[in-house]
Amino acid sequence: VLIATVCSPISYFPLKFALSGSTPPEQTCESREQRSSYLKHRTPELPPYLLSKLQAYERRHRRCGPLSESFNTTSPLGTHNDSAGGDCKFVVYTPSQGLGNRILGLTSTFLFALLTDRVLLVDFSADMGELFCEPFPNSTWLLPGNFPFKSDLYGGWFRDVYSYGKLLEKKEKTASDSSSSSSPNSTLLQIFLDDKYSEYDKLFFKDENQGFLEKIPWLVLISDGYFIPCLFQMQTFRSELEKLFPNNKSTVFHQLGNYLLAPSNQAWSLITKFYDAHLAKAEQRIGIQIRVFDPQATPTPVVMKQILSCTETRRILPRSRQSNETSKAVLVASLSSEFYEGIKNRYGGRSGGGEIGVYQASHEETQQSYKSSHNMKAWADMYLLSMSDVLVTSGMSTFGYVAAGIGGVRPWIVTFPDPKDHPDVPGWAAVCERAVNVEPCFHFPPWFAYPDEQGTASGGAGLVNRCEDVPWGLKLV
Ligand code: GDP
Repeated sequence: VLIATVCSPISYFPLKFALSGSTPPEQTCESREQRSSYLKHRTPELPPYLLSKLQAYERRHRRCGPLSESFNTTSPLGTHNDSAGGDCKFVVYTPSQGLGNRILGLTSTFLFALLTDRVLLVDFSADMGELFCEPFPNSTWLLPGNFPFKSDLYGGWFRDVYSYGKLLEKKEKTASDSSSSSSPNSTLLQIFLDDKYSEYDKLFFKDENQGFLEKIPWLVLISDGYFIPCLFQMQTFRSELEKLFPNNKSTVFHQLGNYLLAPSNQAWSLITKFYDAHLAKAEQRIGIQIRVFDPQATPTPVVMKQILSCTETRRILPRSRQSNETSKAVLVASLSSEFYEGIKNRYGGRSGGGEIGVYQASHEETQQSYKSSHNMKAWADMYLLSMSDVLVTSGMSTFGYVAAGIGGVRPWIVTFPDPKDHPDVPGWAAVCERAVNVEPCFHFPPWFAYPDEQGTASGGAGLVNRCEDVPWGLKLV
């Protein structure tokens, strides 16, 4: 998870929008057309109010977005009155860390845009521009190359000068200062929600600060996590969220992610070629996602044992061959090929009744999140996993959260207990529990987001719970 996005300082002049490296808006998006034939029962039905909100959003994006007339007169450097194309307001998502983290941050930012009547733009640079279809008809979500500060959006000085957290910090330190947060003179602020965010940055999640932010036409939001559980806990958004997701909070990511993130034609071709060749014919598809964060603490043989103990005790894969079993296709997703080899050696090559095929789409060996072709393979793997009937994922991994969430498949999550905390548990005995739902976990909520023991302190009662794999994280329930 620890790879920062490198932003290429492309600049176009004159100030006119230039598309770079994504599906042109007019090109058809094959995955959107074909997805339901691959995932018959899995594409979510959106409730009518959410659907109408998305339609209104699409109209706004067309009216205000980079291909509109008004956008070319819009600049975050302008004066407050002429800086936002009339009533248009924007939130620019700036990605951070690996693809799973980025997809969660992006989807959360989109929901924030929906709730605050903003237009979502994304700074994908070269490493993500090829992954998705344009989500909003007749427009683009790509931040133009000539956006002021484009090459500085990840820099320390930009954060120092423009971040809301720093503003609050400075304000507190100069309490006698007359500048008041109720009368913004800035047209642009950064919202810094990365995992290393400060106590001041976290105040973004306080209701009393939303009124101020509402008046800022340009927000640049950096995030590597699924902060939606915290939006649900805010009074400002609660009633609208309840209208948008009546009785189905546990599929928020499933609904929004599937709307927003359709694989590009290039990604879809990778996905469907692999699926058709290896997975389509089996009666059951099993996805196993293995993410090793600390190879010293959990070396390959240990992880291998843990995964097999999970799949066999939970009867996902049979201990011994039985001829009346359904045929299975097992997709192993991992940076390394060792797990694939191990699982294939154990199960592969069986023919006749209960046939088990074991496959791997790629093994990149190391994380290279700054590379487009690498992210393409990661996206293909996530999507192929999401097409599984049964899913086993690794605890703490946002890669696994995306696969489970997009697919709407409640995964078995394998967690590796820290021997220091669990001296009684032998190293091979991983915990393997079924997730309560398909929602991702937010790994680093602010302290005030934890419901107290009665579940009432922050108003989060019944909305959020601790995550099954990350005890300090929160998820919608
Ligand atoms: P997390 O670190 O597990 O939370 O997931 P992220 O997706 O944020 O970052 C891990 C990155 O490592 C991925 O985005 C990929 O670039 C790479 N990676 C990890 N596991 C896999 C895998 O199973 N398949 C592929 N293709 N890439 C992987």
